[in-house]
Amino acid sequence: MLATDQSMLIGYIVVLLSTAVILTYMLAATARKRREAGQRVVSVLRCTSCNILIKRGFREGDYVGKIVDDKCPQCGGSVVVESIYEEKVKSVLTSLLYELKSEKGKE
Ligand SMILES: [Zn+2]
Repeated sequence: MLATDQSMLIGYIVVLLSTAVILTYMLAATARKRREAGQRVVSVLRCTSCNILIKRGFREGDYVGKIVDDKCPQCGGSVVVESIYEEKVKSVLTSLLYELKSEKGKE
């Protein structure tokens, strides 16, 4: 019967459409999660006085060799951008915190 064929076809399309909607939603959720836990750009700063290394999130305008507004947490000296790179974020918490890395004892 033609009517049965049509309703089957409509049912098939409905199932197909809902599958597509669910898949799109899942992909969007996965992409969002991946972006949140993805890479972030990090600037490594070096104190010009005591050579301590300070790692912090990249800020617009940062470039290697630039003297930034940040002050050395150890001696208050001016700090310069040593390097800029991308790193994987392990957790949201670490991305919120400044990671201080002392390079003392190098002398
Ligand atoms: Zn310093």
